[in-house]
Amino acid sequence: MNPHPTRFRLGIRAKLLGTILLLTLVPMGFLGWQAFNEQKRVIGEEVTRSHQELSNLLAHGIHENLEATRRLMTAITDLDVIKGLDPVVAKDFLESLLKNYPIFKLIYLVDSNRKIMVSTDPNVTLPPDWSFTNAVKRSYQGSLSDVDKTPEGNPYMTLESIIKSPEKGVIGVLVAEVDLLYIRDLLKNALKRSKSQGLVLDETGAIIAQSSDEVKTFHISGAEIVENDVTGVRDIAGEQYLITAVSLKKFDFYLAPNWTIVLQIPERQAFQAAFELRQRVLSLLIATTMVSLVLAILMANSFIGPLLNLIAGARHIGAGDFTREIQVTSHDEIGELTATFEEMRTNLRTTRADLDHRINELDILYKVGKDISSILDFTQLQNSILEKVVKVVRAEKGSLMLLDEAEKSLSIGVAFGLSEEITREARVGLGEPVAGYVMESQRPLFVEDVERDHEFLAIKKNNIMRGTLMSVPLQAKDKMLGVLNVSRGDPNTFTDKDFHLFQSLATQASIAIENARLYRYAVTDEMTRLYNHRYFQQRLDEELQRADRYDSKVSLILLDVDHFKKFNDTYGHQEGDRVLKTVARLLEKSVREVDIPARYGGEEFIVICPEKDAEGSMVPAQRIRTAIEGFDFRIGGARVPITVSLGVSCYPEQARNKFDLILFADTALYTSKESGRNRATLYDPAMRIEEVLAKKAAKKKEKDGH
Ligand code: GH3
Ligand code: MG
Ligand code: MG
Repeated sequence: MNPHPTRFRLGIRAKLLGTILLLTLVPMGFLGWQAFNEQKRVIGEEVTRSHQELSNLLAHGIHENLEATRRLMTAITDLDVIKGLDPVVAKDFLESLLKNYPIFKLIYLVDSNRKIMVSTDPNVTLPPDWSFTNAVKRSYQGSLSDVDKTPEGNPYMTLESIIKSPEKGVIGVLVAEVDLLYIRDLLKNALKRSKSQGLVLDETGAIIAQSSDEVKTFHISGAEIVENDVTGVRDIAGEQYLITAVSLKKFDFYLAPNWTIVLQIPERQAFQAAFELRQRVLSLLIATTMVSLVLAILMANSFIGPLLNLIAGARHIGAGDFTREIQVTSHDEIGELTATFEEMRTNLRTTRADLDHRINELDILYKVGKDISSILDFTQLQNSILEKVVKVVRAEKGSLMLLDEAEKSLSIGVAFGLSEEITREARVGLGEPVAGYVMESQRPLFVEDVERDHEFLAIKKNNIMRGTLMSVPLQAKDKMLGVLNVSRGDPNTFTDKDFHLFQSLATQASIAIENARLYRYAVTDEMTRLYNHRYFQQRLDEELQRADRYDSKVSLILLDVDHFKKFNDTYGHQEGDRVLKTVARLLEKSVREVDIPARYGGEEFIVICPEKDAEGSMVPAQRIRTAIEGFDFRIGGARVPITVSLGVSCYPEQARNKFDLILFADTALYTSKESGRNRATLYDPAMRIEEVLAKKAAKKKEKDGH
């Protein structure tokens, strides 16, 4: 959904990886490289030094052997056996010499005539270019002859020593072919414990001897290095060798040949230790790299894991989802940040839940308020209030109790979930448990568990039922109206929020009840508790309009207590009032629910009968009359009969407007009075209205006059 996380995930990994590799590999690599070079240098120096020592030894060995051989030959030529030049004696001697000195391959004597006198090999011939003079010169000057090789490849050289007699001077030459294989043995011996290879080269660079057959070397002639050793690295047959070449001439030996001793070792062998070190360093580097990589990845993961976790959580919060818990997975700064985020989330969730709850509560209050505020009918209002409260707080039982101020007690107006019997009979005095207590204390009561709440148990001591309850006084301004109760069978199932909402609902209910009460007060006649004249007028207007709309009828029953002036005069006004109240009750009982009885004024009452025609209205009119006539009025134990006269008119059958309707009922009533009272009369157009009006006017005048 968002490409950024991937980008910075790699970022942290790469940075950590880079840093760790840099910190570990660079110094290690540098040190390893330094150590390798240093070791190589030390080994190189060491090898060269040992090569030089060895070549020194070898040079001495080679020279001493040659020198000894030459001295031996000089000594031989001084012997009489040789000087005598007796072929037989000399031959025996030479053969014995050959036998005892294996260095000699062949010995022979050449006389001054260039003739081989005696030889250990009868087939020997002098080389064609051999001359006596040269041999003498070689013997004196000591210059050694060239090195030759036998057909088998064994090197040898020819040494010559002159034979002198005191009398005759040089009389012959002793010639010996000297085997040079001892040089190979010297090489082998000297290099027994070394990996180096050794070679001895002659003046021309040809190999005289080598420590083993396979050894090859580079070309070097003796003349090149008489004074200065050659040391360094040379390529031999494609391989690098560490070589040291030393000339035999360097040692100031007497009559030394111009030979070169070469000691060499392939670099890979010489530097094996260095290469091994390099290999070890490399392995270590690789191992370190791997470990570093793993460490870096682990470290990166230890950062990134918690970070990703935090990001995922933060994203949920960002999207407004506060339900998903963010787990704290590390104990570092990121962990702390995560914990703070989690705290923020829970706070946000709580805040939002509170807000949601408040909004919901306000919504409920608004709806309930709207629904109940328009209800002016008291019974309907109570029902509506309780129904809504029970639904909103999900109560199992509920009741709305109203205060009877005169009786100082509460009675159930409406109930939910209670038996009808309880509803009808429940009446609690102020201060009595539970509603009476709430009403008197004017304090809301929330009992989470009725069996455990000490305050509650102090109020109510017996008949405790299991459950939870809320009870709130209903009051408008300072006026106590009643108590609203709800309950549930399971304890601890109402919350503080429920209680809060319940109280708000109660406040609204109180306002609605008070409004309805005020309204009722405004439309009720205080003494008779019937609707007053104003309300009657208003309702009659409405009913007439309705009749017009639905094309129905409305009838009026007007009634007047007979000879009431006389009654008052006889029994007093208070008894008169009591009669009027009783008449009002009888009137209420005698009409239908839909009929609207009202006090018209004085001792006159009126009933609006919607949807009743003229004839039909005579029935309730008669019922009223008989009810009052039959009622047992008593004053001071004596029965005092009371009667009423009634007049009935109908709209639109008879009257076409309100004025006429009332006038016609009045006319009919007047007729009842005229015809002897205690009777009901239906209006008839034949009745003389003018007469009625005149009489009424006269009566009024007479009254005013008093
Ligand atoms: P009739 O109607 O039968 O012709 O005779 P009447 O005596 O009833 O006639 P009238 O209408 O002249 O008298 C009405 C009397 O009713 C006058 C008044 O004293 C009495 N009255 C009116 N209002 C009240 C009231 O509220 N209380 C009491 N006690 N008397 C009232
Ligand atoms: Mg009257
Ligand atoms: Mg009267």
